[in-house]
Amino acid sequence: MTLLPNSLQARDVAYHFHPYTNARRHERVGPMIIERGEGIHVYDDQGRAYIEAMAGLWSVGVGFAEPRLVEAAARQMSRLPYYHTFTHKANEPAILLAEKLVQMSPDGLDHVFFTNSGSEANDTVVKLVWYYNNGRGRPEKKKFIARQGGYHGITIAAASLTGLPTNQRGFDLPLPFVRHVTCPHHYRNALPGETEEAFADRLAAELEAAILEEGPETVAAFIGEPLMGAGGVLPPPRTYWEKVQAVCRRHDVLVVADEVINGFGRLGTLFACEHYGIRPDLMVVSKQITSSYQPLAAVLFSDAIYQGLADHTEALGNFGHGFTGSGHPVATAVALENLAIIEERGLVANAARSGARLQERLAPFADHPLVGEVRGVGLIAAVELVADKATKRKFDPPGRVAFHLFERAQEHGLIVRAIQDTIAFCPPMIITEDEVDVVVARFAQALEDTR
Ligand code: PLP
Repeated sequence: MTLLPNSLQARDVAYHFHPYTNARRHERVGPMIIERGEGIHVYDDQGRAYIEAMAGLWSVGVGFAEPRLVEAAARQMSRLPYYHTFTHKANEPAILLAEKLVQMSPDGLDHVFFTNSGSEANDTVVKLVWYYNNGRGRPEKKKFIARQGGYHGITIAAASLTGLPTNQRGFDLPLPFVRHVTCPHHYRNALPGETEEAFADRLAAELEAAILEEGPETVAAFIGEPLMGAGGVLPPPRTYWEKVQAVCRRHDVLVVADEVINGFGRLGTLFACEHYGIRPDLMVVSKQITSSYQPLAAVLFSDAIYQGLADHTEALGNFGHGFTGSGHPVATAVALENLAIIEERGLVANAARSGARLQERLAPFADHPLVGEVRGVGLIAAVELVADKATKRKFDPPGRVAFHLFERAQEHGLIVRAIQDTIAFCPPMIITEDEVDVVVARFAQALEDTR
């Protein structure tokens, strides 16, 4: 494709280095410029409309162009566009949001620290846990256990927790404080004939063996997304979380739930922790907290951890961690309004209703010759493609066919996501059941074109 000289496309290629993009391919094909969005749709600069069945990056819960969020941002911008929260400073929306998050989150999470992104929040988790263990005289207790296929972001510590080669290859990562255990992907990693429960038993035993091998006195925390998102939309096998938590409790290992994608209704419950019976010591949220109208993330943690941290600040004189944007008044004001909309419009119940429709409509694709597995919970789902259904053989190179399907879907006015051989769906939580049917019909056309 030839890019017109001085066009926006050509200037993008010249000046803008994109995240998660093959730079040489970008030079050849140029960017897709999205100009505006409304409800579940976005529109490109050629005037083409797409259903955004990924809610941007798993995040625009209330849909695009929600006027109440625009007004909330404008109101806060004109009153107090910015102030920091260092050294005892506070602002009203940050206080109200911290209180609201504690009220709405699972029991046992009593305090909140704000960051700008999920990655920073997970780096903050690592630092909070290290600081906490240093403070309680356990300086050797520093290691984290994470899962292969997990996604926790891309800053140095977060990318080390992440269990995806693409985030580590070329970056000299992961750092050695992390050990990765088997991805709880039943379709791919269970033994022939192994039930979900037996698979969960095996993974819990593997986790316990890893903790014992490292030495429980050196293992600080276990981190996981309740339902894995960016690794391919992977609901855990039945009983996984209760077994994993029991192992962690036995060895004084903190449980960290990364709800950056799952949180605020995605699975049809307010948090995925409710769905899976997880009682985390720390929980990370972002994305749907503001429907991504503003960058914002938060770490919630227990009072026991707070007490340890607070004592240590007293001993050291200060807590030497925080971002210029921590507790940003505009971001937190937008979050408050966004959470009010989710409540008032019953969007968690809608995610359960429209999500049931999505799962039901996608399920029959499991019979398709190109499909290995269909899976998901609520309004997050995936269709995993296979080169050979009987042997579950992957495509070579991985992702080739999924990417082709993703491009065909775009031609049919549907934005999904290709993750290796898997097609992911995560539409805005405002989507109706009828609109879900349109999503699935367009996907079916794209799959048909892919045969
Ligand atoms: N944790 C999870 C579960 C995520 O899905 C993501 C991003 O997709 C992150 C953390 C990182 O968030 P951010 O991209 O805001 O740094």
